[in-house]
Amino acid sequence: ALRIRSLCKSFGDHEVLRSVDLDLGAGEFLTLLGPSGSGKTTLLRILAGFDTPDSGRILLRGRDISHLSPAERDLGMVFQQYALFPHLTVADNVAYGLRMRGWKPARRTRRVAEMLELVGLPDKARSKPQQLSGGQQQRVALARALAYEPQLLLMDEPLGALDRSLRLQMQEEIRRVHREVGTTIIFVTHDQEEALALSDRVAIMHEGGLAGLAPPSQLYQNPPSTFVARFFSNAN
Ligand code: ATP
Repeated sequence: ALRIRSLCKSFGDHEVLRSVDLDLGAGEFLTLLGPSGSGKTTLLRILAGFDTPDSGRILLRGRDISHLSPAERDLGMVFQQYALFPHLTVADNVAYGLRMRGWKPARRTRRVAEMLELVGLPDKARSKPQQLSGGQQQRVALARALAYEPQLLLMDEPLGALDRSLRLQMQEEIRRVHREVGTTIIFVTHDQEEALALSDRVAIMHEGGLAGLAPPSQLYQNPPSTFVARFFSNAN
């Protein structure tokens, strides 16, 4: 579904991505793990179109999307930097992508209600984002991204601000959507347990490259390098 080829990015003389190559199958759930500063967010921002790469190509179902704007890429995103629209109600935030895709009002209303139910905020439909807690805003962002069942969903620490029980509930929801809709997902987290629970494969980033790429249990039991072995043991 997604092919990333020789993707490079520097900020000044700091090489943040060093020729990243990555292939994702349709419906695959890939988690990016790695130390702080290894380039995870930069990679996701480039995929989303918030940053431009210095070189390299991104092919989504065969189409080169490297030069498209974020809106033209037709992806679902849950990013810290991609905040809710402050002037819209929660319901209108969730409906936003549906409206853009031409969903009729009745269908939109049904879907919004379903999504708010799903993230546990059915009574917040008419609230404005600033009336919600950080965790609640994150749940609305997740509902907004999942509402139109995008083919590729990019998530940067989407569950970071949630308490444990809600996090497990949202993990289950993400898993369900993944299973039922077949959404291809790239997920960034610092939580190794979360990565193990959710992913088909895990990519370990290290200094702008991939230090390992395999199903989580395989990486964990058979680390391809001492860096990966240390990375796993340090975080536990
Ligand atoms: P974390 O786990 O802490 O979120 P990360 O793996 O997501 O880290 P990135 O956010 O991709 O790492 O950052 C990689 C490197 O690029 C860091 O050293 C960061 O300081 C640098 N960087 C990111 N964005 C910029 C920018 N706009 N200008 C300059 N340097 C940047």
